[in-house]
Amino acid sequence: MAAAEPLTLFDVDPPATPMPTNALLQVRRIYAEPAALTIPRGRQVLGRFPGAEVVEVPSHWQIPELHGNEGLVDRWVRVKTETLVLGVRKGLATRPNGRSANFIAPGLANGCAMACVYCYVPRRKGFANPITVFTNIEQITGHLRRHVARQGPKTEPDQCDRDSWVYDIGENSDCSVDALVSDNVADLVATFRDLPTAKASFATKYVNRGLLELDPAGRTRIRFSLMPDDDARVLDVRTSRIADRIAAVDDFVAAGYEVHLNLSPVVLREGWEQDWGRLLDRLDDELGPAAKSQAAAEVILLTHNEALHEVNLGWHPTAERLLWRPDLQEPKRSQNGQDNVRYRADVKRAAVARVRDLVARRAPWLRMRYAF
Ligand code: SF4
Repeated sequence: MAAAEPLTLFDVDPPATPMPTNALLQVRRIYAEPAALTIPRGRQVLGRFPGAEVVEVPSHWQIPELHGNEGLVDRWVRVKTETLVLGVRKGLATRPNGRSANFIAPGLANGCAMACVYCYVPRRKGFANPITVFTNIEQITGHLRRHVARQGPKTEPDQCDRDSWVYDIGENSDCSVDALVSDNVADLVATFRDLPTAKASFATKYVNRGLLELDPAGRTRIRFSLMPDDDARVLDVRTSRIADRIAAVDDFVAAGYEVHLNLSPVVLREGWEQDWGRLLDRLDDELGPAAKSQAAAEVILLTHNEALHEVNLGWHPTAERLLWRPDLQEPKRSQNGQDNVRYRADVKRAAVARVRDLVARRAPWLRMRYAF
C-alpha cells in the first residue's frame, strides 16, 4: 500500500515547544492516522518535532514500508531515531497479570527509541519498531479510573504490593522515553496520584530527570532495570548507562516515586555470577537508606525468540553470541504461539537459586518480589 501524500505543518496547529535536542530522537518522519491528528495530544507531538514530515497512514499497524520492509533491518536503530507513529488506541482492555503487576493497563505507546537486543516488544512488529504514540490519552485515563474504582480497596497483600492494585503502564514501551515525546506519561502519573487504592508501575532503562518534576506522591513505581555493565554495553543499546541508572535511584525516591529494581534479564555466560555479585555490592555501597528501605526486586532470566534472533543477526550479531545459546536453552511455545527459547529447566532452576543466594548475601535489604 502506498503512503499518502505528506501533510505540511500548515495543516496542523502552530507548533508547541519543540523537544530539546536529544540523540535518541531526531525525528524526520511521523506516520499518522488522520484521527490521531485531530486530537490535541497528536498535535502536541507534531509540535515537539516541527521539522518532521507527516505522512498519513490508514492504521498504525499497517505501514508496510516500516513493518514489512526486510531491508530496514540494517537501519534498525536509525529508524527508531528518525521515525514516530501516531495512532488512536482502539482496544482499551486492562488484563490481569499477577506477577510484576496485578493488571496490565492499555499502553500509551508501543515501540521504543532504545534498542535492547533481547527486547520482546518488536516480536510482532517485523522489521522496524519505532515509537507509536497513542493520542487518545483521555480515553485511556478514563478507562483506568473506572477499572480502579471497580476493584475497590485491596484487602490482602500479594507479591505485587501490600495494599495497592498495581497497574503496569509500560508493557510495550519505555515510559521514561515516551515522556520525551508527549505528556502521556505525565497524565498517567497525575491520574494515579489521585487514586489511593492503585499504583502505576513501569520498568525503565532510561534516566529522564524531567520525570522528577511530576509529583507522583508515592503512587507511581519506577523499576530501574539493571544488569552488569559488561552485559549492558553489548545488549542495552542506546539506554542510559548502568552507573547513571543507579545514581538516579535516590533522586527518584526523594521526588516521591517508589523505586524498585528489575534485575533483568539475567544472561548466563562465563563469569556471570561474579559480575552480578559486583553489581549487588555496588548497589549496597551507593544507594541511600531511604531507597534501600523501600526497595524490592524482580529477577527475570533471559527469554529469547527465534524470529528476533534472525532480525538481530542482521544488525547486531555480536549480541547474539551472548543471547543465543542452544547448548543451554530449550524451545518454548508461548501462549500467543511464538517460538521462544529459554534456559533449560534445570539450568534455570540452578541460576535462580544462585541469584537469590547472591542477593541474600550481598544486598540483604533488597526484598525479592519474585524470580523466574
Ligand atoms: S528499553 Fe525496554 S522497550 Fe525499549 S528496547 Fe529496551 S527492553 Fe525494549
